Amino acid sequence: MNHTLEEQLLHILNERCQLDDYTKRKLYSQEMGYRGEQAFQQILTACIPEHWRVLTDLTFHGANQRIQLDCIVIAPHCVFLFEIKNYQVEFHYRNGTLYGPNDIKIHDPFAQISRGEDILAPLLGGVPLISRNVYMSEHDIIHFGEACRDSYLKRWEVKAFLKNNLYGQKMLSPDKFAERLLPRTIPSHQGLEFECLEWVPQAKRGILCPQCFLEYTDKSRYKYICQNCNITESAEQALVRTICDYGIMHYQAPLRAYEIAEFCGPDVPYSWVLRTLNRHFERISNPSQNIYVNPLQRLTYWDKIPKFRYKRRK
Ligand SMILES: [Zn+2]
Repeated sequence: MNHTLEEQLLHILNERCQLDDYTKRKLYSQEMGYRGEQAFQQILTACIPEHWRVLTDLTFHGANQRIQLDCIVIAPHCVFLFEIKNYQVEFHYRNGTLYGPNDIKIHDPFAQISRGEDILAPLLGGVPLISRNVYMSEHDIIHFGEACRDSYLKRWEVKAFLKNNLYGQKMLSPDKFAERLLPRTIPSHQGLEFECLEWVPQAKRGILCPQCFLEYTDKSRYKYICQNCNITESAEQALVRTICDYGIMHYQAPLRAYEIAEFCGPDVPYSWVLRTLNRHFERISNPSQNIYVNPLQRLTYWDKIPKFRYKRRK
């Protein structure tokens, strides 16, 4: 499970701006969504055979909108589509609409999952597609009444549901189906303007301490020390971390060395920025232009964290 780009962006903005309550709530609900997906993944891993494939957070071009699917599980006898929700307040489902607190209309969760079915069904050629909304919150806070009883699962029903659907006539190879499906997806951020982007121009510039988010005051050639919380970080790691965060704040564009140098501030020489980019990022232009692939991941979420000379310590 990945942290969504929007969640990562909201975290960075929270570290670099004084966000309003609306945007902070958005961050909170993104975090809750992530936790719900993580908890669901744990149940999945414990219940399904190793050769099944699990694909998460896939985005497709629908007829006239983007369609995002939370989780697809490919078994040899069927394909499961799960939409994972982790709502923390009370909701009521009435006549095809989900209502939140103060009767705010949310959306129809069953229409959302049926758009996902429309994407997958044509690719399946008769292989059964089983879809469910899954509600991961510990508390029973969604009142569906008896409507749609077979279309959703509560967290504590997931295990038994998977157990009951473990076997069937073998119809496809999970790996081959995944290979066919993945090229049809688009990057999850493609064409998306997150609402919180309006905060980016206000974001504090410079290389910030990863703990208290104040600007480092003690910067030497190789290491930075935060005098507020007394942590030490290698200059190289701090710069890679800041470049990644800059990339997320400007997720629609590749990384440009001169823009990053400007963002980092006058006490980070352009030559360091360039050296760091060349060492850790993939160049996509000829050497005179200094443009690099935007990894769209905070450093903490890189698959392989590079070795840096100075470890962070308290
Ligand atoms: Zn600090």
